[in-house]
Amino acid sequence: MTAALEALKSKMAVISGLRYAGALMGWDQETYMPEGSTAGRARAMSTISRLAHEHATSPEYGRLLEDASHEVADMPPDSDESRLIWQARREYDRAIKLPSDLVAEMREAEVTATQVWQACRPENDWQRFTPYLERILEQQRKMADLLGWEEHPYDALLDIYEPEMRTSEVRRVFNDLRERTAPLVSAIADRADEVDDSFLHQHYDEDAQWALSLDLMERFGYDYTRGRMDRSAHPFTTTFAQDDVRVTTRVDPEFFNTCFFAAAHECGHALYNQGLPERFANTPLQGGASSGMHESQSRLWENVVGRSLPFLSAYYPRIQEAFPDQLGGVDLEQFYRAVNRSAPSLIRVEADEVTYNLHIMLRFDLEVAMFEGELGVEQLPARWNEKMEQYLGVTPDTDADGVMQDIHWPSGLYGYFPTYTLGNVISLQLYEAALRNLSDLQKQLENGNTAPLLGWMREHVHAYGRKFPPQDLLERTTGQRLSAEPYLNYLNTKFGAIYSL
Ligand code: ZN
Repeated sequence: MTAALEALKSKMAVISGLRYAGALMGWDQETYMPEGSTAGRARAMSTISRLAHEHATSPEYGRLLEDASHEVADMPPDSDESRLIWQARREYDRAIKLPSDLVAEMREAEVTATQVWQACRPENDWQRFTPYLERILEQQRKMADLLGWEEHPYDALLDIYEPEMRTSEVRRVFNDLRERTAPLVSAIADRADEVDDSFLHQHYDEDAQWALSLDLMERFGYDYTRGRMDRSAHPFTTTFAQDDVRVTTRVDPEFFNTCFFAAAHECGHALYNQGLPERFANTPLQGGASSGMHESQSRLWENVVGRSLPFLSAYYPRIQEAFPDQLGGVDLEQFYRAVNRSAPSLIRVEADEVTYNLHIMLRFDLEVAMFEGELGVEQLPARWNEKMEQYLGVTPDTDADGVMQDIHWPSGLYGYFPTYTLGNVISLQLYEAALRNLSDLQKQLENGNTAPLLGWMREHVHAYGRKFPPQDLLERTTGQRLSAEPYLNYLNTKFGAIYSL
């Protein structure tokens, strides 16, 4: 008999219904909502967040969780039932530490700050944006203290996105990566002229770019009957439920990469969520194991596949067909090298694979300094520029291209950035494991057949949803805990060949 578990699941379904509504409002806010609707939307989203939080922390929910845990106590520890209780308990213990008022206030502040950021960034108006960011940061600090931490206040936030990860561990991995990619970065800088990507910077018809991206996602296995693609200022993937996983991208009519690779990236996130087991629907087991694990999927499809020679050898003719005037005279090798051109740049989302992680390390350093109370919002632009110079050797001319470039801070996503680099690292651990299991994987990619790779990810990653902490899942799947080795080898081999090092 699992009566208590069933009762708990019905309660979970109510909560996921509310979250569905909240996510739908959030998607609309970023895509089609009229500019003047911010205040009303912020109130409505705040109400939904409060309601979901109240359900998830009610005494009734706590009682049902308690009853259900007794009921499943004798089940195997790896069973869906036992793991569901483990995940639900983790979420509940965290949620009850946060008062509903704070959750509602945070949501409202985040929606408002995001809208202000969208208006201020093009105007390069840091001053107007500052008080909104101050308020978000204050709320995040308060949340970290309420959630509790042992080593570092930032651990409390990190744990939301990357369960069980510590600031000290991130620092260790990042320092190691930075030291060991530095020689590659400088060797490439000495040969900066080796790769010409000027043909990527010319006029590309927006509709043709859009159509090509839709085609690419279909090729990767995205299911359009359970999703769609729209435009937004900042590309993202959102999941309302198993049968509605949406992506957004943006289009730059003067640069090929923006739309195409953002679509490939978001498609990777979407494939993960479309591939989750139906039986986890409406429960805390639905979703990716962590933000880092999620990012491993997006970076896999964007870079390890999308920017690889095997896949492009199959797909490049389709790209040429879409842009005969721009790319008709550009051969595969030139195109492959161009989309992988490495150079220090200002904007994270357009950074190449070698320098990308330096952008993340910069944000990680700043966030940690803010949570240690050592860095205030008013000093952010100066510190940002200093760090850019130190890590990448470039300084932005404007805050729009500097400290104001990302949506994360106004959205209240502190603790999230490190998961991007963890995702890069994990993507190669998974890809190597897939290569060991599927001996003809490269051959299949050369034939444009990405289905075996997706099948492998479905079976070894997607099928588990949120059953296990990310590091445990990684170990089950690859036999290793977090390790930067495969990623460093990949970078050295790939870019060593491109730049004849
Ligand atoms: Zn992503």
